[in-house]
Amino acid sequence: MLIATNAIVLKRIPFSDTSIIFRAFTEDCGKVTILAKGVLRPKNIIGALLEPINHIHIQYYNKSNRDIQILKDASFIQQYPQIRNNLTRIILGLAIVEIIDRATLDCNPYPVLYRLGWRVLDKLNDASQNFWLVFAFFLYQLSIRLGFMPNLKNCSKCFSEISQGGIDDYTGELVCTKCVTQSQIHLEENSFITLQKITGLHLDDLKSLTIENNSIINPIRFLDLFTSFHIEGLKRVRSMEMVRKLIIEENDKSV
Ligand SMILES: [Zn+2]
Repeated sequence: MLIATNAIVLKRIPFSDTSIIFRAFTEDCGKVTILAKGVLRPKNIIGALLEPINHIHIQYYNKSNRDIQILKDASFIQQYPQIRNNLTRIILGLAIVEIIDRATLDCNPYPVLYRLGWRVLDKLNDASQNFWLVFAFFLYQLSIRLGFMPNLKNCSKCFSEISQGGIDDYTGELVCTKCVTQSQIHLEENSFITLQKITGLHLDDLKSLTIENNSIINPIRFLDLFTSFHIEGLKRVRSMEMVRKLIIEENDKSV
């Protein structure tokens, strides 16, 4: 059966001198692995489309009894020049697609997550957007869509209102300063305020939020810990290692 759908390219895997295999998160069929024959031949323009982060339209031959489908054709929906021109943006973009790859199952349609993915990549491609805010928004929304909502109001142990605290190493939930025993981060009042702002906003309104870069660092570290704790597969996202290095650099800059 020939399927035509929109997709975000998640991963590109070398296959032969002239062909590649790529993994795509499609709007209609979820995550699919596809063989693109002959796309590395000279004059073939499709090979360049099948790079991670790209948002494309594809047609492929699908047989449900095989693991790898066969590409017929592909075209761009959206190119992301601003992402590719900036090292931090490209690292965040690669982290976003790798996180989607790890957090989803094959052939399991998830249109809401697909929409979140390309909408966030669109914002990451907008040079006027604060890329750290966009990334924090993505982590929070991903977590909610997959069924894990951090309680930002109350301590998960004593239920008192929380304005400072940490993330409990055993439950992965927020706890107040009195209840915290072991936590890899300390969230001060500013971080809570920033987190609450991000969680209350629509993606299109993120631009209206003006914050200092250093007040986004701890919220991202929290969201990273929270999602890694709760979402299966997220502990092994390799590009997050680079994101964590960037966060440390950003933090050092602001001290
Ligand atoms: Zn408490």
